[in-house]
Amino acid sequence: MKQSMMLIPTMKETPADADIKSHQLLLRAGFIRQTASGVYSYLPLALRVLKKIETIVREEMNTAGAVELLMPALAPAELWQESKRWYTYGPELMRLKDRHERDFVLGATHEEVITSLVRDELKSYKRLPITLYQIQTKFRDEKRPRFGLLRGREFIMKDAYSFHATQESLDQIYDKMYAAYGNVFERCGLNYRAVIADSGAMGGKDTHEFMVLSEIGEDTIAYSDTSTYAANIEMAPVVTKYEKSNEALKELEKVHTPDKKSIDDITSFLSIDNTSTIKSLLFKVDDEFVLVLVRGDHEVNDIKVKNILKASVVELASNEETKQQLDCEPGFIGPVSTKASKVIADNAVKYIVNGVCGANESDYHYVGVNPERDFQVESYCDLRFIQEGDPSPDGQGVIRFAKGIEVGHVFKLGTRYSEFMKAEFLNDSGRTQPIIMGCYGIGVSRTLTAVAEQYNDENGLVWPADIAPFNIHVIPVNTKDETQKNTAEQIYSNCLEQGYEVLLDDRQERPGVKFAESDLIGIPYRVTVGKRASEGIVELKVRKDGSVIEVEVEKLIETLQSL
Ligand code: ATP
Ligand code: MG
Repeated sequence: MKQSMMLIPTMKETPADADIKSHQLLLRAGFIRQTASGVYSYLPLALRVLKKIETIVREEMNTAGAVELLMPALAPAELWQESKRWYTYGPELMRLKDRHERDFVLGATHEEVITSLVRDELKSYKRLPITLYQIQTKFRDEKRPRFGLLRGREFIMKDAYSFHATQESLDQIYDKMYAAYGNVFERCGLNYRAVIADSGAMGGKDTHEFMVLSEIGEDTIAYSDTSTYAANIEMAPVVTKYEKSNEALKELEKVHTPDKKSIDDITSFLSIDNTSTIKSLLFKVDDEFVLVLVRGDHEVNDIKVKNILKASVVELASNEETKQQLDCEPGFIGPVSTKASKVIADNAVKYIVNGVCGANESDYHYVGVNPERDFQVESYCDLRFIQEGDPSPDGQGVIRFAKGIEVGHVFKLGTRYSEFMKAEFLNDSGRTQPIIMGCYGIGVSRTLTAVAEQYNDENGLVWPADIAPFNIHVIPVNTKDETQKNTAEQIYSNCLEQGYEVLLDDRQERPGVKFAESDLIGIPYRVTVGKRASEGIVELKVRKDGSVIEVEVEKLIETLQSL
C-alpha cells in the first residue's frame, strides 16, 4: 500500500480528552477517530489490526469446533421480553421504535436471537451439541464510555453460544472454549490471566473472565499470593474469621458530632479506629429500600447485595430518597431505631463491640453501640468487597490485588434462556427438555486497545508482529532522488511478491517527519532507503528494540525471513 493513498491522519499534540496511553496513541497515530461519545470510526490502520485479531479469533473458534454465522444487530423487543431482559437490562440497552411504533433493540449480546433460532431449527438431541459464533457490532449505552475503544457504546464483539443435551457436554465445550480463549490472547501477545467470576461456585468453574493485566484496568483482580486462585474482586467471597474483643460493653450514648458525615470525619473527631464504626447505606433494591451495614473500614459490594436479595437492580438511594425514607440526611443514618423496614449487615458488623453509628438525627452519632443489644438485622452475610490481606477463599495464602482489563468472558448459562424462551429438545427417550447453554464473548475492539496499551514506548505504538497493520514500512529518505525512489519501489514490490504486507512512504515529506510518524504507527520492521542506495545498501530497523543494521538490497528478503 502506498502511503500517499492511505488515510493516516497523524497528530503532533496529545489530544486533551484522552487520558490513557493507548487512546492517545491510537488517535495520534491516525488509527481511530471519535464520531460521538463512545462511537468510533476505525481508520484503515485500525481496521487492518482488527481484521488480524478477527482472523486469530476465527481460527481458534473453528479449531474448537464452533461454526460462524451472522445475526442481525437489530432485534424485535418481543424476543427480549420473552427472556425478561427487556425489563431487567436497564438503560444500557439501546431501544428504538420503527415507523409502526414497534419496539426494537440494537443487540447488546445475542442470547435471545440465537436461542430463538436454535429453538425453531433444532429439536432433537441428535443435533446437539452445537456451537455457533459471530463477529459483530454490539451496542450498549454505557454510563461512562471512556478510554477510546476500551469502553465504547458501539464496539466489536465475538460472541459464541453452545447448545447441549447434557451438563457433561457443556462442561466439555466450556473447557475447549476456555483453552481457545487462552490461545487467542496469547497469539495477540497479551499478558493475561483467567479469573473466576462467580460468587456461587467458590473455586468453581462456571464462569471465567480473561483479564489483561494493566494499570488502567477498570476491574480489580483478587489473587492469592501462594496459590493459583484469582477472582474478579466483585465476586471473591470473604472467608475472614472475625473475633469479638473482650472489652466490657458500654452504655449506648448519643453524642454531638456537628457536620461529621463521613467515616473519616467521625473517626478523627472521636479519635477512634474505623474498625469500630458502622457504615450505614440505604440502597434501592428493585422497588424496596434496604439499609445495608458494613464495618467502617469495609466497602459494600452491591453485587453481593443483589445476589443475596435475588434482586435485578441495586443502586444507592439518592440523598432525596434517603431523607424521605429515613427522615435524616445520609451522613447521620444508622441501624439504632431506624425507620428502615429492612436491614442487612455484613458478617464483620456482628463482631463490633462498643461501636459508633449515625443516630438518625442531623449532627448526632451513637457511641457504645452493640449489635443484637442495640439493633437487630434481618441477616448477617457476606456483603463486602474482599481486601488485600484477607485470607484467600481457597484457604491458601492471602489476597493481593492487580488491575485488569476484561477482554473475554466464558459463561455456563445453563437453562436460563431456554426455559424463559421455551427452547426445548427431545432427548433419547423421547422426553422434552430445555436445552443447556453456554456463552462466550471476546471484545475484539477492546482487545486492540489492550494490545496498544501493553505495546508502546515513548515514540509510539509497537505492534506485535502477528497483529501489526503492516509487516514492513519502506521509507525512501528523499523521493526526489531517482535511485532512492526506484530502489524503494523495487523493495516494495519484491516484499509484496514474497507475501509481506508493506507500506511504502512515497509522500514528499521531510525525512524527520516520516521517521517520527513511522515510529508512532509502530510497524515491526522499517527499511530506510537513503544515500547508500546508490551502493545497493539500505537500513533495516527493528521497531521493538530500535536496533538498526545495514543490509544489501539483494539480501534484504533473506534477512527479513531470518528475523
Ligand atoms: P464490562 O464489565 O467491562 O462492562 P461486561 O461484563 O459487560 O464487560 P460481557 O457482557 O461479558 O462484558 O461482554 C463480553 C466482552 O465484550 C467483554 O469481555 C469485553 O471484552 C467486551 N465488552 C463489553 N462491553 C464493552 C464495551 N462497552 N466496549 C468494548 N468492549 C466491551
Ligand atoms: Mg458491561
